[in-house]
Amino acid sequence: MSTLEIHTFLCRKDNIGVLVHAPDGSTASIDAPDAAAVQAALTEKGWSLSHILVTHHHGDHTAGNLELKEKTGCRIVGPRLEAARIPGIDVEVEDGDTFLLGGHRVDVIGTPGHTMGHITYFMPDDHAAFVGDTLFVMGCGRVLEGNHEMMWHSLCRIAGLPPDTRIYCGHEYTVANARFGLTVEPDNALLRQRLEKAEETVAAGALNIPTLLEQELRTNVFLRPHNTETRRRFGMGAVADWRVFAELRERKNRA
Ligand code: ZN
Ligand code: FE
Repeated sequence: MSTLEIHTFLCRKDNIGVLVHAPDGSTASIDAPDAAAVQAALTEKGWSLSHILVTHHHGDHTAGNLELKEKTGCRIVGPRLEAARIPGIDVEVEDGDTFLLGGHRVDVIGTPGHTMGHITYFMPDDHAAFVGDTLFVMGCGRVLEGNHEMMWHSLCRIAGLPPDTRIYCGHEYTVANARFGLTVEPDNALLRQRLEKAEETVAAGALNIPTLLEQELRTNVFLRPHNTETRRRFGMGAVADWRVFAELRERKNRA
C-alpha cells in the first residue's frame, strides 16, 4: 500500500485545513473553510485538487466549495442528508458507503449530533479519520441539531476505531478543551502533560492536529463518562453514559 501524505494548516480563525495527497496525484481537501487558504496550501505543496470531502454543511466548512470547484474542476463529496445545503455537491454519500481516493479506501461513518447529517471519513488502510466537528483534541463539537444521546453514539463510533487511528478534526480548540478537561479530571496526569505540550505547540505557531485516538481515550473527558471520579464529582451514579456526557457538554458550554 502506497503512503498518503497529509498536510494540515490553520485557516479562517481556528479552522483546520487538511489536504490528503495520494501518490497517483489525487488530492482531497477535507472541507473547504477558505478557498484562498486551500489554494495557497495546494501551491505550497505543488498539488492539484481533485476532491473536496465535506463533513457537514456549516459555512466555515463549505465557504470555499464553489470557488475551488470553479478553479480546479474538483468533485465535491458530501453527506446526502445535507446535500441541499452543500454548495456544488456532486456525490452524495451516507453511513456505510465506501469509495476510493487515489486507490485508498474511504469509509463513510454517520456521526450526527453537531448537525443531523454530519459524516466522518475513515481511511482504514491509512489509520486516519477526518471527523469534522464531532470530536476535537481533548474535546468535542457542540450539539447543535441533534441531541446528546445521538452525539454520544457518534462519539462511540469514532472511539471504536482502531486505537492507532490519527484523528483530524475541524478546529484547533485544544488548549481550552484541555483546561476544561482538567476541571473534570484534575488527577489525570497524562491530560495535564498533554495540556502543557499543547500550550507549547500553540506558542511555537504549530498545530495540535492530528491526535492519536489512543491518547484521546485516555485524556478526552467527553469520551470518558464512565469514569467513576467524574460521576462522583457530578453526583451522578448508575445512569447511562450519554447522560454524563450531556452534563459534560453542558458544563463546557457554560465554561
Ligand atoms: Zn460546524
Ligand atoms: Fe466548524
